[in-house]
Amino acid sequence: MNKIDIKSLTMEQLEEWVLSAGEKKFRAKQLYQWMHVKLADSPDAMGNIPGSLKEKIRTQCTYTVLQKKLCQESRQDGTRKYLFCLEDGNMIESVLMRYKHGNSVCISSQAGCRMGCRFCASTLDGLVRNLTPAEMLEQIYRISADTGERVSNVVVMGTGEPLDNYDNLLTFIRMLTDENGLHISQRNVTVSTCGLVPRIRQLADEELQITLALSLHASNQRKRESLMPVAKVYEIGDVVDACRYYFEKTGRRITFEYSLVAGVNDRQEDAKELSSLIRGVNCHVNLIPVNPIEEREYTQPDHKAVLDFKNKLEKNGINVTIRREMGRDIDGACGQLRKRFTERQDA
Ligand code: SAH
Repeated sequence: MNKIDIKSLTMEQLEEWVLSAGEKKFRAKQLYQWMHVKLADSPDAMGNIPGSLKEKIRTQCTYTVLQKKLCQESRQDGTRKYLFCLEDGNMIESVLMRYKHGNSVCISSQAGCRMGCRFCASTLDGLVRNLTPAEMLEQIYRISADTGERVSNVVVMGTGEPLDNYDNLLTFIRMLTDENGLHISQRNVTVSTCGLVPRIRQLADEELQITLALSLHASNQRKRESLMPVAKVYEIGDVVDACRYYFEKTGRRITFEYSLVAGVNDRQEDAKELSSLIRGVNCHVNLIPVNPIEEREYTQPDHKAVLDFKNKLEKNGINVTIRREMGRDIDGACGQLRKRFTERQDA
């Protein structure tokens, strides 16, 4: 018999399971609370649940709990990077960022990634597998339980392409923002994508209030292709059009992410071309000086080039921020911690 992944069940699904197990419907609400509010790390910890129901959970279900393998805290800004071990031994990483306006957790959506972006460490060994809704939720739950701090924002910007794991992502978002669970506001959830056009349009039609961040990284098709293989499948103009559609359907302003790479996409001409590409889109551009990884030759532009790029965009009427680099001293860039850890294990 296939075991049921109980922590990935929505409230309605959990009710169905509880009834089919011959229990009263109100038990579903109690179980949901134990799993998604009180963050119980085992069915044994569920005080008001009868032993017979706990036994059914043990025999019929899997109960996902992530194991903390490593936790590094930045001395600079209190950012914490976690390495978690999944039930099957795969490793994933998640980051807690502490801002004045609250705590933000950056989660992984897949173990590995198959998108192949040239500057990214997460994709070097390809995709291993999709994460379940429970494994995405657990990253937030374990960090919250570990620190005792409330998490108010979630960004799906860690390892993996969230829209390549669409159904699990949607279940995760619905459960995370459900009033029976942690009840994080949809407006405080951001999903970052490399630009899977049909999925962006599908997401727009879901009537959610989450923010879409689009990894653009180039101002024309040729340059985007050289940095991101996925650009060969979805043309840059179609990607921007899908973002326009997302705004029309949801009213949520788009974030364009643009990693600045010295000598590749950081010149004044690039800024000019970028301005015309996204003209008229209700958006904001987040500039990220590229985080160099060992395996690639890409480097950051100097501070002046970053400011010049920002100024050029602003002169063209575009809202711009430069991403604060959190946790530079603790393997900040996507996938670096996981990669180093796995290599050490292999050595
Ligand atoms: N697959 C999704 C989300 C994961 S990556 C996406 O592509 O958006 C999160 C963001 O970090 C993306 O904008 C990605 O392009 C960027 N990124 C990855 N590696 C980076 C690096 N070494 N330096 C700067 N940004 C990087």
